[in-house]
Amino acid sequence: MPDKDIIVFDDIDKYGSETYERTYQFAVSELDRIDLAAIGPVALVATASKGDLVGEYLADGSTTFTGDLTCSRCVEPFPFANSSEFHLRFRPRPAVLAENEVEITPDELDIEFYTERLIPLRDLAAEQVQLSIPMKPLCTESCLGLCPQCGANRNQESCSCQSKAGDERWGALAGIRAELAKKNEQ
Ligand SMILES: [Zn+2]
Ligand SMILES: [Zn+2]
Repeated sequence: MPDKDIIVFDDIDKYGSETYERTYQFAVSELDRIDLAAIGPVALVATASKGDLVGEYLADGSTTFTGDLTCSRCVEPFPFANSSEFHLRFRPRPAVLAENEVEITPDELDIEFYTERLIPLRDLAAEQVQLSIPMKPLCTESCLGLCPQCGANRNQESCSCQSKAGDERWGALAGIRAELAKKNEQ
């Protein structure tokens, strides 16, 4: 097993597929995600090999980590555990990248273009962590969030604020019910 923290494409050409097992520590600030409150060590397993196309390399593996995310509704931190696989294809960046010439099909979403013939494993791990964090993290699917008027966490306390939007919605619903009741009577 190579002891470098970099996938070197020339080494893959010379020695064939290589497997790497690494654990990386990240500072929350490094990952630049406002909803990430804390993160533990990230375990990375990756196997790098040659692809079918000239200059194409593959990286297959997984990342596993735990951390704390901030709920997008109630803004409380909650524990998060993730283990996900990746299947990446690296291809040489086309010399001239004319936007209208490059068509990205859904099948090609896992393709990354390289200019240097190496991939730092730590960057690979960071990228996978980014992809594993949901866009709008929720502590529970049924999280009640904060009261828009007084800011109370409605999972923990019920406040006495009247929700105007809610009243209007109920009003409309009551109107529909009245209409239906009338129709049924006819
Ligand atoms: Zn929540
Ligand atoms: Zn309130």
